[in-house]
Amino acid sequence: MRKLCATGLVLMLVTAAVFAGGQQDAGGLPSIGVAIYKFDDTFMSYTRNAIEANAQGKAAVTTVDSQNAQPTQNDQVDQFISKKVKSIAINPVDRTAAGAIIDKAKAGKVPVVFFNREPFAEDMAKWDQVYYVGAKAEESGTMQGEILAEYWKANPAADKNGDGIIQYIMLKGEPGHQDAELRTEFSVKAITAAGIKVELLAEDTAMWDRPRAVEKMDAFYARFGDKIEAVLCNNDDMALGVVESLRNAGFFTGGKYLPVVGVDATAPALQALSEGTLLGTVLNDAQNQGKATFDIAYALATGANVSAAGWTLTAGKYVWVPYQKVTRDNYKSFQ
Ligand code: BGC
Ligand code: CA
Repeated sequence: MRKLCATGLVLMLVTAAVFAGGQQDAGGLPSIGVAIYKFDDTFMSYTRNAIEANAQGKAAVTTVDSQNAQPTQNDQVDQFISKKVKSIAINPVDRTAAGAIIDKAKAGKVPVVFFNREPFAEDMAKWDQVYYVGAKAEESGTMQGEILAEYWKANPAADKNGDGIIQYIMLKGEPGHQDAELRTEFSVKAITAAGIKVELLAEDTAMWDRPRAVEKMDAFYARFGDKIEAVLCNNDDMALGVVESLRNAGFFTGGKYLPVVGVDATAPALQALSEGTLLGTVLNDAQNQGKATFDIAYALATGANVSAAGWTLTAGKYVWVPYQKVTRDNYKSFQ
């Protein structure tokens, strides 16, 4: 009788767990929740595709669009937790909101991997079941600066007014994003470290967005005209917007040229390199960032040892995927 009761109880619990919203999908795969700050972001769509491709046959991944609204993302996280997913991968809308997300996840005992938007160190320290997958923003800025410095040294005519100083425009991504702040800072540091003086003509944000970058560059060109000797952009979508604006102003034909540098190495950016418009970019490795994010989330979901997931963990919780310079010399190997 007692044995029967115990079996019945176990059965009931199992049934309850399944109806509570599937810790495992019908095929017995562990469920993982993924939230992306917004689907309509070129680089994030690459990362998202990589996460989903790696999950094939291993995990039931539910990916949601946080539509650039942190309250929406918070609700999505609540739902993942109440559905008892086994782990969550989060690309925060606002990285300062990570602390509150970690509190919820810890209370619900659901481990978290953040990616692309780095939480503050004090938030990362809140729980030992929190990881981050990203790339060192400083590194990408330094590489951008080196690409421009190398071009400048090889092309004396790039100094249009002959004063030995690069008069430049800086187009930033979203303020507060580590990639926007650090690329802005380190690209310029690399140029001055190469012994070249710089003069900032104007800096503004185009929020990672191509159409906004076209508008900003139209206005900068109207204001500064041929005083501009270079344009640094925190990502490729904005760099391509700048190229488009310059093309409309008559550049990239008949020897009229201006060096523009981006980051990401998106397919359209590689195309622009092949056409000789974009000077250079830096590979932001969405394939490996997506794979690392999935591998860590999967290890967490299955209770496996995260340090055996195939990635080097720095300080026990960070995976850093390296950047790579991309110019006309090597772009073909990234296509
Ligand atoms: C990429 C941008 C992207 C942003 C989203 C950055 O690492 O370079 O293209 O818009 O991440 O958070
Ligand atoms: Ca100059």
